[in-house]
Amino acid sequence: MGLKNCPECGKIFVDSPAGMCPACVEQEERDEIKIVDFLRESGNAASIEEIHEATGVKERTILHMMRKGRFMGDFEISYACEACGAPIVEGRVCAACSKNIINQMKQSAEKEAQKSLEFKKAGRMYSNLEKK
Ligand SMILES: [Zn+2]
Ligand SMILES: [Zn+2]
Repeated sequence: MGLKNCPECGKIFVDSPAGMCPACVEQEERDEIKIVDFLRESGNAASIEEIHEATGVKERTILHMMRKGRFMGDFEISYACEACGAPIVEGRVCAACSKNIINQMKQSAEKEAQKSLEFKKAGRMYSNLEKK
């Protein structure tokens, strides 16, 4: 454990499992209570944007808390798909975009396979020539 710059406020602090300075950890706890209160009032579901507007907590902070699994199970928080901006509640992209991404990956994998097949064919032709 050494000294680190707090990723939230930039102050130097003694590194801890929280990864933030004690003041920011406290602030985050306060923010979390605010968010939970807001979620309870709004029927346990809201988008990150709505939470941000109602509580003033930065969207980045809300995402950060979600990644830590703070609101898992009890609440449904939607946020924007990283690719198209559609509201999603899990993962980084929506179902449609993840399908697209998988298709793209498949296509490029197929292209690669095709390329190496052609390469092998060319290699075979070359070795046939050599035998003659
Ligand atoms: Zn801090
Ligand atoms: Zn999307």
